[in-house]
Amino acid sequence: MYVHLQYLKRLFTVYNYSISPIFTTTIHGNPVMHLGNHRFNKYHRSKEPRTRWVCTKKKSGCKIGIITDNGVIIKVTNQHNHY
Ligand SMILES: [Zn+2]
Repeated sequence: MYVHLQYLKRLFTVYNYSISPIFTTTIHGNPVMHLGNHRFNKYHRSKEPRTRWVCTKKKSGCKIGIITDNGVIIKVTNQHNHY
């Protein structure tokens, strides 16, 4: 599903949770969540069904965190520090 940038901005400003993320795995078998043009890695200590995701640019200082529950976004903390 293509998510328009305006939708993402709304998601990260007023926390509109209606956007559906897409879940895949890397070639190494690690879970990845796609949301718009951003990708998130599963936080290694999170447990199903409530899962914490961190931006793939976390090492570059991006502090956004997303919590999903059974594949639905229920919480977003902080914002991306990049586009
Ligand atoms: Zn980010």
